[in-house]
Amino acid sequence: MRNYSIAVLPGDGIGPEVIEAAIKVLDAVQKALGSLRLELKFGEAGYNCIEKYGTNVPEKTLRMLEETDACLKGPMTTPEEIGAPPSAAVTIRRKFGLYANVRPCKSLPGVPSLKPNIDLVIVRENTEGLYFGKGFEVSPGKGIDIRLVTQDASEKVARLAFELAMKRKYHVTCVHKRNILRVTDGIFRNAVYRIAEDYPSVILDEVHVDAMAMRLIKEPEKFDVIVTTNMFGDILSDEAAQIVGGLGVAAGANVGDNYAMFEPVHGSAPKYAGKNKVNPIATILAAKMMMEYLRELEAAEIIEQAVVKVLREGKVRTYDLGGDSTTQEVGEEVASKIMEII
Ligand code: NAD
Repeated sequence: MRNYSIAVLPGDGIGPEVIEAAIKVLDAVQKALGSLRLELKFGEAGYNCIEKYGTNVPEKTLRMLEETDACLKGPMTTPEEIGAPPSAAVTIRRKFGLYANVRPCKSLPGVPSLKPNIDLVIVRENTEGLYFGKGFEVSPGKGIDIRLVTQDASEKVARLAFELAMKRKYHVTCVHKRNILRVTDGIFRNAVYRIAEDYPSVILDEVHVDAMAMRLIKEPEKFDVIVTTNMFGDILSDEAAQIVGGLGVAAGANVGDNYAMFEPVHGSAPKYAGKNKVNPIATILAAKMMMEYLRELEAAEIIEQAVVKVLREGKVRTYDLGGDSTTQEVGEEVASKIMEII
């Protein structure tokens, strides 16, 4: 029996519902395979914790994460008041050195997609850039936010992008804006080119971020792995999520050298909280990415196959895909397909 300890943070808003559906799928995978055991440890994090603990990531949750192999995280409402703690995801990324954000974007059957053959991954530097968190008001009405880019962090994320390309279509596109951000994007771009020397079989090209925003619409099928800095990656990955069907099916991983956290790309969608209405597929695909990270490739494969089957049949689907099924019905349907596949 292969055992893993998994931290589960249901989060805010629709978080607990989509996590509940994803857990149904993970339960089915364990039952179907018989050789895999996931010990789920539930923890508190998110906006809901601030009143009780004075922070959105309580110390005991951080300690719990340290004792686990990976984390499945639901969406969390970001506090926006001045002086409030940063988003829970940012805190966890910093604490565990999760320097790469990996967001696959793939056309799925039965999901409206700009083109039928999109299969790309955006790898975004996750710890610095404009999200470094240092900004100040120089004088009333005049502010500065600092954009930090280091060779070290850029090389790390570049290496991860090349390793991923080696398992895919051997093509990396470096996205930057070096013509304007000469210092910081110069460092980033040069780091990617330096790491490319270790991967001679991978084709590397470069595109300015504004052109990339356009080409993602015009010819998304031409890309494989896109590597970029934090804010460019944040924006482009939402654009890429939209061209393959929207936030309801987009998952992401935050990866470091010793730990990783998996989450749907979408937020806590407060207006749908408790309505059992939103699409859990993004969270189910995040759980699938977690299985890949744990090298449980069979488990990952059957989750993906089950999701594809449910989407292809199109009988059980949530409102965003034109259906009226509930969040839990979709989770149950994917779980039942897993039992059929095995
Ligand atoms: P959101 O992603 O929560 O929701 C925007 C809209 O997208 C929703 O109103 C809904 O129409 C749709 N949507 C989102 N998830 C869906 C799903 N699973 N199925 C179907 N439709 C779905 O974005 P927002 O309203 O801008 O953010 C709400 C809160 O979430 C904010 O506090 C934001 O900062 C936070 N947020 C958190 C994360 C995270 O935890 N990683 C990510 C993004 C936003």
